[in-house]
Order: sequence, then structure tokens, then C-alpha cells
Amino acid sequence: MKIRVLGCHGSDQLVEGAQGPHQCRTCGFLVNETVMVDAGTVGAALHGDEIKRIRQILLTHLHFDHVQGLPTLADNLADVIVDPVVLAGTPEVLEGLRRFLFNGHLYPDFLQLPNAQHPVFSLRPLTVGEEVAVGGLRVTPIQVNHLVPTVGFSIRDGVSSILYSGDTYVTEEIWRVAARDAALKAVFIEASFPDEMADLAQASLHLTPALLAREFHKIGKPDLPVYVYHLKPRFRDDITRQLSRLGIANLTVLKEGQEIVV
Ligand SMILES: [Zn+2]
Ligand SMILES: [Zn+2]
Repeated sequence: MKIRVLGCHGSDQLVEGAQGPHQCRTCGFLVNETVMVDAGTVGAALHGDEIKRIRQILLTHLHFDHVQGLPTLADNLADVIVDPVVLAGTPEVLEGLRRFLFNGHLYPDFLQLPNAQHPVFSLRPLTVGEEVAVGGLRVTPIQVNHLVPTVGFSIRDGVSSILYSGDTYVTEEIWRVAARDAALKAVFIEASFPDEMADLAQASLHLTPALLAREFHKIGKPDLPVYVYHLKPRFRDDITRQLSRLGIANLTVLKEGQEIVV
């Protein structure tokens, strides 16, 4: 399985780093070139021919930073679409896309355009806990603990699996799934705020480095590779420093443009 990091932050911002300016973008991960996990960043990081290869998009929840790539993706595809791109999520997420985003006000209804027979997007409801086939992968949505209905995903090919936390605060079920998954090769866990902002993390149901460590230890696999994402760009240095002090053996803070093969 190959995962391309198009965006891995909790917001969009240009930040200064040791190697010069770096563009932080909202979450979007391209798996095996055809399946997206979250759609915060899509067209902003891809060429036209890469955009056209995307067939399915798995959405963890409706928050804007996870769907903001969809309207302009629709615009890029409107004149070339043959088969609709499938937007897969729980019924709450799909209903929200219809009511709040592709509602003819905030953006045109690309669930019906350019015409109702061949729209840009079609909707695929997912049920929490039920595994489905998605573009050669097996995907299971697992409920997590966030301000709105949110899932993480277990994603497996024939050999390996990964686990993507989604936006979450302290939670249980997804770590139970991780603990009993013998094929698990990596977990992607969010960390949005530094430890000193634990109150805001609790109010917004996000993790800090200290909370991430507690959640990760629930899996009981101390050597498992951990990829940390959803850092708020303005706190990237502080969060990274705090993560490095946790003593987790194989922890990587993700960066846009990175590729991970498991
Ligand atoms: Zn988010
Ligand atoms: Zn969120």
C-alpha cells in the first residue's frame, strides 16, 4: 500500500522551517493513486492526470478542513467525468454534503451536475463497523470521539493494514481494533494542539502529544510505526518537540509531499 501525503495539518498556512518556507495544508491522503482518505487537500497538490485517477474518497467527518478540496475537485472534473467519483462516508456525512455544501447555494450541486445521469460525484453510505471493498482495498469505518459524528478507518490490502484515527479525543474502539489486527503495519494518529492547550483540545475534542501517548499505549504494540498528523501549523514546532520527548520508538510527524509504503 502506498500513501501519498497531500495535506496533513489541521489548517492551511505557510510556515518557516529549517529548509525554508513550507506550505501546510489540510488533511488529504492518496492511497494507491485511486483512493483518497479525507479531502481537505486534493487538486491543490495534484496534476490533472493524477486527479482523474481518483475513483473513491473516504470521508471521516463533515468538518470543513476535511471536505474543502471537494468543490474545486468537482470543478476540475466537470467536463471530463465519465464515471462519478464515489464519496463514501456515514449517512450523517453524506446528508451534510447534500444539505450544506453541494446545495446550490454554497456551491453547485455536483451530485446532479453536469447532468443527473453522469454527475461528478455519487454517494456511498458506510456503516460503522462494517467492512467494505474500496478500489482493491478493504475498509472498515470505526467510530471515534469528536464534536460531530466522526469515524477513523482501518484500511487493508491483501497483506498489510493501516489505521487512520480521524479527528478524535480520548477513545476506545479504534485501539481495540488495532490491538487485535495482526496485519497492522502503521497507525496515523492526530495531534492538534500542544500540551499546554489541553483545555482547548478537550473542548474541541482533539489530542495533544501527552494524550496521543496515552491513546497509542492502549494498542499494546510499542514498536508500531506512528505517523502523526492534523497539527495546527502555528504550533507545529512545539507539538513536534513534545512528541519527540514521548519516547515512542517509531514516531514520525508527517509533512506534505511525503510517501509512505507499508
Ligand atoms: Zn480536522
Ligand atoms: Zn474535525
